[in-house]
Amino acid sequence: MHLSVINSGSSGNAYILEEGGNRLLLECGEPLRAVKQRLGYDLTGITACIVTHEHLDHAKHVASYIESYIPVYMSHGTKRAVTERYHLTDMQSDLITALDYSLTQIGAWRVIPFPTQHDAEEPVGYVIIAPSGDNLLFATDTYYIKPRFRGLKHLLIECNYIDELADANYEEGHIDYRYYQRLQHSHMSLGNCLNFLKANDLSKTRTITLCHLSEANSDQRAMIGAITGATGIPTYIAQRGAEIALTDTPF
Ligand SMILES: [Zn+2]
Ligand SMILES: [Zn+2]
Repeated sequence: MHLSVINSGSSGNAYILEEGGNRLLLECGEPLRAVKQRLGYDLTGITACIVTHEHLDHAKHVASYIESYIPVYMSHGTKRAVTERYHLTDMQSDLITALDYSLTQIGAWRVIPFPTQHDAEEPVGYVIIAPSGDNLLFATDTYYIKPRFRGLKHLLIECNYIDELADANYEEGHIDYRYYQRLQHSHMSLGNCLNFLKANDLSKTRTITLCHLSEANSDQRAMIGAITGATGIPTYIAQRGAEIALTDTPF
């Protein structure tokens, strides 16, 4: 599998997951134009776009994806919220497929949504199973991940902020109280990310990619150091423009 990062974080989220010519888009928080550019205007093999929740940075461009005949999938609650927030017509809304919490085949891919903890209508993360059987856990915009998983190969997981940095930024007046409070009940701290990793069986895990980093409250080197120190697994940052090979070989 290969991961192309169009953008990640509060300014916009869009990723392309690719395996053997099959492409799955994650989120539609960046214009389709940016996806087209990244693919050299070769849109073959795009199976669908799966969306985690309705916030602007993840779903702002949903209408243009639908109009370009890209099948779009999300939870029932997210579909309702997206329809209202982005003033979709009935016809546009009907073209969105609402997912249950069960294994769903989407072309050559399979996805299993699971609930996430975020201030949105019905936010979800996904376990994505590629055509080859390799898998990726995608969890973003969630301060905590309740389910436990086995046999995960690759993780694309939010690591938004470092508690001490957010505390210092609040104390020094760089971030306001509302933002500081929201952070702790909507986004993943490095501490909670580490707790999640510790609580799950990572014996099959080959790569960890950290996404949706806060500009003000994160530190890439410190985060990578903490995650590799705790797991020994190669760890990457989903920065705008990054191309990340999700290799299958043991390190
Ligand atoms: Zn977000
Ligand atoms: Zn959000």
